[in-house]
Amino acid sequence: MKCIAGTTVQGKRRTKSYKVHKVEQVPKEEWVRVENTHEAIIDKEIFEKAQELSKRDTKVSQKTKELSVWAGFLRCSDCKRAMNKKSSTNKSGSKYEYYICSTYRKKSNNLCTKHSIKVENLEKAVIKAINFHIDLLIDTEEIVKQINSVGVAISRPQIIDNMIIEKQNEISQISNFKRTLYEDWKNEDITREEYLEYKQKYENDIEKLKRNIEKLENEKQKYENQSISSNEWIEKFKEKKGITELSRDIMMELIDCIYVKENGDIKIKFKFEDEFKRCLEYIQNNKITLEKQVVNL
Ligand SMILES: [Zn+2]
Repeated sequence: MKCIAGTTVQGKRRTKSYKVHKVEQVPKEEWVRVENTHEAIIDKEIFEKAQELSKRDTKVSQKTKELSVWAGFLRCSDCKRAMNKKSSTNKSGSKYEYYICSTYRKKSNNLCTKHSIKVENLEKAVIKAINFHIDLLIDTEEIVKQINSVGVAISRPQIIDNMIIEKQNEISQISNFKRTLYEDWKNEDITREEYLEYKQKYENDIEKLKRNIEKLENEKQKYENQSISSNEWIEKFKEKKGITELSRDIMMELIDCIYVKENGDIKIKFKFEDEFKRCLEYIQNNKITLEKQVVNL
């Protein structure tokens, strides 16, 4: 489905069969065109989900006609390829499902190892990791809020501003010394050599201070571009706090990808990773502010 300037064009291509994923072009006269209506018929969130779904390599089981919770999410942490579902029976006779690396499965077992993981263990681990991640996000959000509330009083840019003022004062002081130096030489209080030597030293000092000011100004700019005022994306996670079961919807909303390691460990790439990193950087950069404030209280 493609949306172009408010027009929804459906049926440009059709899939011949779910199994082979063959797509054929549909003749133009068979296209379904709906002018300026997509806002009414496609909710933005659903549209994004649909986009997301179409990107994933998913195969619908012909038996159940239902998309697995895991379809399209699991990757081998070594070869980065998809994992394939298999089932087996344990000694007591009960059936269980597990995933293995698709590279290994396609008989190219010299190219990768099994990376086997039972669905039951996978589910437990992911539920635990999601809840842990949500707690972490709640804490992060709280700290960002605290920074924002005290940040107005003493912000990092303000500290930098004060440092810049200090350096500027130093420059004017040295400039004054430089001026009196010339008088000293004229009054023969110092020799010509001494005059030249000091003059050079003062000039070097001023240059150095000017370079420092430039650096501080750049740093200040960096902080100013970095302020975080809202974290609406965290709400999506908070809604799922305390989950005990997984659904495809939860997976779609919270997780980008899950890497399975050879030893059965998993590494989850959560959604909004960049936003989260930005928050952590923000906290790191404003640590001084927060610590100062705590001492002041
Ligand atoms: Zn692999």
